[in-house]
Amino acid sequence: MELDELLKKFHEYSTQDTTVLEYAWKYSKEAHNDQKRASGEMYFVHCAAVAEILVGYRMDQETVAAGLMHDVLEDTKITHDIFRKEFGEEIYALVAGVTKIEALKFSSRDEAQAENWRKMILATAKDIRVIVIKLADRLHNMRTLNFLPREKQLEISHETISLYAPLAQRLGIFQLKSEMEDLSFKFLFPDEYQSLSAKAQLRYAMREKLLEDFRVELEKHLDGGQVPHRVLSRAKNLYSIYRKMLRQEKPFEEIQDALGIRVITDSVINCYALLGTVHSVFKPVAGSFTDYIAVPKMNLYQSLHTSVMAASGEIIEIQIRTEDMHRTSEYGIAAHWRYKMGEKGADKHLDEKLNWLRQWIEWLQDLSSPREFIESFKTDLELDQIFIFTPKGEVKPLPVGATPIDFAYTIHTDIGNTCIGAKVNNKMARIDHALKSGDLCEIVTRRNSAPKKDWLSIAKTAGARSHIRKYLREHGQLQD
Ligand code: MN
Repeated sequence: MELDELLKKFHEYSTQDTTVLEYAWKYSKEAHNDQKRASGEMYFVHCAAVAEILVGYRMDQETVAAGLMHDVLEDTKITHDIFRKEFGEEIYALVAGVTKIEALKFSSRDEAQAENWRKMILATAKDIRVIVIKLADRLHNMRTLNFLPREKQLEISHETISLYAPLAQRLGIFQLKSEMEDLSFKFLFPDEYQSLSAKAQLRYAMREKLLEDFRVELEKHLDGGQVPHRVLSRAKNLYSIYRKMLRQEKPFEEIQDALGIRVITDSVINCYALLGTVHSVFKPVAGSFTDYIAVPKMNLYQSLHTSVMAASGEIIEIQIRTEDMHRTSEYGIAAHWRYKMGEKGADKHLDEKLNWLRQWIEWLQDLSSPREFIESFKTDLELDQIFIFTPKGEVKPLPVGATPIDFAYTIHTDIGNTCIGAKVNNKMARIDHALKSGDLCEIVTRRNSAPKKDWLSIAKTAGARSHIRKYLREHGQLQD
């Protein structure tokens, strides 16, 4: 990647002046001039590659410039003072944030690891762009991992699959998450990876015909370009198939892995129009429809999901979405961040959308023991969500396994604190009842009732646990 290529790609989505970006390029190249990577390449090749990934996510100039210089403070003679004077507070803060994460030493011991994760998230909480740069850095290191000794490969892959990939998932940057997982998988279990990769390629080649049939059939019923759309097939990431094999204790041949298709259109109304057409042409699989447009996931993901049966009897999983939603699903928060400078298409609701992230970080800060933190981190990261209705018809997303206590705290702290039970679909239920998607839940409270210690093992979300701990601590029932 050369500078003019980078600028060209940047200008495809931004009108920002690139003086700073150009200066950052020269500055970083000069600063790393005497360094080489394990591959024998100039070190700067890595910096340019990280910037290229960031431009791929359509990040703003400051972020791309910081990407070019992300290792300058760590690996060169440039001091913090000089750097700050050269590039100003904003870019300095981004690079210093990345450097801080770099300095965290991860040990394989669980407790220590958890504590570092926590520090890392808190350190980066101030500006989410820091974590996006760090993820791009890690992605490029994973892409070039074959040049490092085996021991290093294992260590870095383990860290990537257990920390960075879940973080990317949490931020909704699925493309990055999938690539990180598959690269880690390749280094951690090379034999399994090779065999699975060969089998999967064969299966997907055989499905090309099925995809084509679907496209033709859909076209036939969409008379003339009334509804603009494009149809993409979706390659599943290998690691998620591997995980499914382990979970179900089955070989690849017995894993049900439906053909994934995406239909992308221009507007929300056309998403529903396409859904109608799809359902009238193909037989929908009962219970498979989910509307993530009306109720987006916590990481901002939106799409209509449905599964249908092809003439051959194979199940096809379909996601229908707008171009905007597609971008969000690929780039997650990164897709929204670039609008922060008031550029065209600024997302007025961004703050609101990012609220869960801030709140989540606040909750995490409240959890004092590393083990507590690691558990919440894992639970809240679970992609699978359930949707629970309030008596007023509002919908609250919760992780699978959530209980009425979790639900109560999403409504109000006082409701949570005084919860004594719940009515689930009009039947009395205990506070440890596992809620299911679509349940209508009404919390029963009693004045003067209070949280108990055993609630900590009942509540599944970081939010609820944090409120409970806070109450118990304030009432002297919990020492830490
Ligand atoms: Mn780096």
